[in-house]
Amino acid sequence: MKCMYCGGEMEWTRSTYTIDRDGHHLFIKDVAAYICSQCGEKHFQESEVAEVLTGAEERRCGGAEAQRSRNRAREQRCRGEREPG
Ligand SMILES: [Zn+2]
Repeated sequence: MKCMYCGGEMEWTRSTYTIDRDGHHLFIKDVAAYICSQCGEKHFQESEVAEVLTGAEERRCGGAEAQRSRNRAREQRCRGEREPG
């Protein structure tokens, strides 16, 4: 795979994925991606990112509003853990 910016060789490796979401800046470590060996440009695979994001939201007990409404039961369980009794 060639870099779309400089034409350098891209290596399949792992890097930190950053995303702005709901006003929060998320850093997700160790996401598989192509990194340009020449200019350092990162190209993340959508499937890899989606997989990691799903895991991150489950750990945070919530995430986007849509995610919450789809997983109401899980959200209630999470809230119970935060507020015992
Ligand atoms: Zn490049």
